[in-house]
Amino acid sequence: MTIRLRPHHLLCMLTFAGKGYSPEFIANFERIIDRIASGNQTVEITFAPDDICAPLLADASCHCRNTSVSTRDTLAAESLGQLLQQPIETGTHLTLTAATLDRMRHAFQQGTIRQACKGCQWVPLCDGIAASNFIDTRLLASRPPHN
Ligand code: SF4
Repeated sequence: MTIRLRPHHLLCMLTFAGKGYSPEFIANFERIIDRIASGNQTVEITFAPDDICAPLLADASCHCRNTSVSTRDTLAAESLGQLLQQPIETGTHLTLTAATLDRMRHAFQQGTIRQACKGCQWVPLCDGIAASNFIDTRLLASRPPHN
């Protein structure tokens, strides 16, 4: 089954290291990351709450539909579209090969795709993870040895 991701979650998946809003959120995020790490996973872009948001949506006060989060998606789509040389729009299918993920990590470290991170509460955590070469992230830890 195709994984649906909103654009700014293409950034968050790079730094996910088992921290998040609730145990259910973390467990769901881990399952998604493990599928992506297994290799050549195709994701479908949505500009709405996605498969990572899913465990939070029962809470009426969740931030997933806030304008600030939509703005984050727009900024992530712009910067990632430039990096990957393809429009990131609703319904876009992206194949997340190991090479693509490496390219995204490098750009993340360089700061060229992080416009969407401005104002996010997790910036200090994600800064530290990038500075440590993403070593403790689920995405790197879960990838097959040949990738
Ligand atoms: S700083 Fe926030 S938006 Fe940026 S990658 Fe980290 S969690 Fe995602």
